[in-house]
Amino acid sequence: VKQDKGIVIEDDWPGYSLDLFTYPEHYHGDIESVYIPHGVIMDRIECLARNILEDIGNHDVIALCVLKGGYKFCADLVESIKVLSRSTNRTLTMRVEFIRLKSYLNDQSTEDLHIIGPEDLSMLRGKNVLIVEAIVDTGKTMKALLKHVETFQPKRIGVAGLLVKRVPNGVGRLPDYVGFVIPNRFVVGYALDYNEYFRDLNHICVISERGKVKYKL
Ligand code: 5GP
Repeated sequence: VKQDKGIVIEDDWPGYSLDLFTYPEHYHGDIESVYIPHGVIMDRIECLARNILEDIGNHDVIALCVLKGGYKFCADLVESIKVLSRSTNRTLTMRVEFIRLKSYLNDQSTEDLHIIGPEDLSMLRGKNVLIVEAIVDTGKTMKALLKHVETFQPKRIGVAGLLVKRVPNGVGRLPDYVGFVIPNRFVVGYALDYNEYFRDLNHICVISERGKVKYKL
């Protein structure tokens, strides 16, 4: 078994200077640096797709996309798995289901986690489920989500997390497939938001103080 614990980004990594990349004009001044460029994210996802495919063989899978932050990761991961399985002549069927959660206000995790829907995930019963989540911070969300999904009695649950934060007192299980392990900083872009802004940014970036103030609720 290959050991792949993700690309580790060290605490002192400042990110790339904004001059080196393009990004939407309307976010000028709102971000500090490009933390993980879009191309690197895509290359890493290809690798996760390969690892996932090696593990699931020819079994059918239901990808459970955790909204809203996970929509890009899920779309790109499913696409990558599809391309790879086709080029290796496999016949696996992938279905995609969605679940919506909310726990953040501004850049703080709040205690009350809501599973907004759907209520009924009975289609997961007896299936191989791959939970696809953009970021695991304290792990509270993943813990609650796993508990919820388990009640529908899937055959097997795998977890793919694009980003995992190094945080003190992290709880619960680490994703089986980790894209990047990052410092404890608030990041946006690639569908990750700050109060619904920045989802339309391709790179994963660090928000600036000005950005935090500008889009604060
Ligand atoms: P946890 O329950 O693991 O503390 O938090 C997980 C959820 O918090 C994620 O699903 C995500 O919605 C949100 N989150 C945690 N860290 C960040 C971050 O750095 N940026 C953004 N945009 N959301 C985050």
